[in-house]
Amino acid sequence: MAILSGSSTIKTESIHEKVLILGAGPAGLSAALYAARAELRPLVLTGIQIGGQAALTNTIENYPGFPDGVGGVELGELFQKQAERFGARVEFNSAQSIDLSKRPFKVTTDNGEIQADTVIIATGANPNHLNIPLETELTGRGVSYCGTCDGWFFKGRKVVVVGGGDSALEEGLFLTRFAESVTIIHRRDSLRAGAILQKRAAENPKIKFIWNTTVTSISGREKVESLQLKNTLTGEQTSHEADGLFIFVGHTPNTELFAGQLEMKNGYIIVDEHFHTSIPGVYAAGEAADPHFKQVITSAGMGAGAAIEATRFLEHEYNPKI
Ligand code: NAP
Repeated sequence: MAILSGSSTIKTESIHEKVLILGAGPAGLSAALYAARAELRPLVLTGIQIGGQAALTNTIENYPGFPDGVGGVELGELFQKQAERFGARVEFNSAQSIDLSKRPFKVTTDNGEIQADTVIIATGANPNHLNIPLETELTGRGVSYCGTCDGWFFKGRKVVVVGGGDSALEEGLFLTRFAESVTIIHRRDSLRAGAILQKRAAENPKIKFIWNTTVTSISGREKVESLQLKNTLTGEQTSHEADGLFIFVGHTPNTELFAGQLEMKNGYIIVDEHFHTSIPGVYAAGEAADPHFKQVITSAGMGAGAAIEATRFLEHEYNPKI
């Protein structure tokens, strides 16, 4: 879990904000930086963690400016520090409900109500589950969705990684630091992950692949002991001994709060090329609105763009008397 250093919990009983940002990942904190530099003193509600999914990544190697890579938590802290330097306020607080039917928009939070002239939604996405027997019960006892967070507990152990995307390979490679072996189980016979990660995984002696296979259930009393596998081509079922099961099978955007209020497709908020949602004054950035790129740099860029648009909106279209 990301460190919440520097964030504050402010009592917020019906306060009024020019720019309210929901989410403190790369999109939210980049939006905060830009809105702060426009002297709008944005308020960022962090949700449950600062840094977003990037904070769950051990090393980020494809964010420009860090030729040797940068830790996910560290990058989140740097984003926050930079935004705060210009007056952004980052509050450890979550939106419980939102009313976008008229301006000012109303957000009910853990600490009270906030009225906002503009809202930038940067609520990100959550990891998908496999929805197999014992997955929930054994989460934290062998089942994990974050190698960076939990890898250390698997020193000298046998772990299985499910998925064939960048996350599966990146986290699988990270887990080789601790685990005796890392078996990547993928439902097809070719990977979705990028070429560099594929090459690194293929060359790592601790990694082996099981292709055309899904994990159908988990066995274990107090912790994960073995997995039941099914070959997707032959239907053959086998058992596989494992101490850990790391699941990286994509993400679902965290947008339930806006259902019925904003136009969405497959759970992603629809935005135009300027990050405008279907409601004037409401913008969306990052994975909540991006089914395609899902990179730290693209999320940061969307956040910056959304804040620029919110600033223009406040200046030219909506002139609140505050
Ligand atoms: P992803 O690209 O959506 O890949 C999900 C993987 O899980 C796919 O291989 C998919 O199989 C598999 N899968 C989905 N549902 C499954 C199920 N029910 N059972 C078994 N397997 C299942 O997700 P991701 O790897 O988390 O990446 C998300 C985004 O973040 C991507 O755009 C990625 O490029 C980006 N990302 C980038 C980096 C990096 O640049 N270093 C690192 C991490 C993530 P199929 O292939 O058969 O669909």
